Amino acid sequence: MKRDGNGSASRDAPIGIFGGTFDPVHRGHIQVALDASEALELDDFRLVPAGDPPHRDGTHAPVANRVDMLRLALRGYTGLQIDTREVDRPGRSYMVDTLESLREAHPDSPLMLVLGQDAANGLDRWHEWQRLPQLAHLVVMTRPGERPMYGGQLGAVLNHRETSEIDRLKAATSGLLLHLEVSPVDISSTEIRRRIAAGDPVVTLLPPGVLSYIEAHGLYGAGDSA
Ligand code: ATP
Repeated sequence: MKRDGNGSASRDAPIGIFGGTFDPVHRGHIQVALDASEALELDDFRLVPAGDPPHRDGTHAPVANRVDMLRLALRGYTGLQIDTREVDRPGRSYMVDTLESLREAHPDSPLMLVLGQDAANGLDRWHEWQRLPQLAHLVVMTRPGERPMYGGQLGAVLNHRETSEIDRLKAATSGLLLHLEVSPVDISSTEIRRRIAAGDPVVTLLPPGVLSYIEAHGLYGAGDSA
């Protein structure tokens, strides 16, 4: 912790961490990432693609293609960066390990784990989930069709952490929960994969360049119905 000229305490720059499978990345991801990084006033906002997601049956596109698509989608957005530590690390992708490695490198930075409401509702299925709020703040973004549902243990761990003040998140390194209203973008990767496999149009749902990439690599059954 540092002291400014007035003697008040200031922490190192906060870091936003937005994990996902990005299978594929879509316009919803980019829009809510922009909204969150702006609302939280973050200069360091990282999209973290999962390598081998533990709580899914597996991904649909290989990790190298998911990373390429994310890079394409982030071109031109200087405030949003890709962080490949989960992809580069051998073994399973656990967010708790990702946060631990960031905490080690940035002991005095507020870490803000940014996730959509659907992901937050299922947080108690994540590996060692109870440690997540010890390592980072949780910033839960609205998502069309989803509302907060924190039952049982999850409610007990989360509810008393809630705040609506972003400044409180910046003053502490971890431990708080903030619900953030972002642009409603009713897009999911599941729907995009379904549409591509069915030969339905998806161009308006994807960031520029991503559709051509999907077609060139024949991902998600692209071209199969032609
Ligand atoms: P799938 O349909 O395969 O589950 P998805 O569209 O939910 O994919 P993920 O890569 O699983 O995309 O999501 C990564 C993160 O982005 C999660 O925290 C998820 O809640 C959030 N997210 C994805 N799409 C939106 C959206 N349209 N609005 C708000 N949050 C979103």
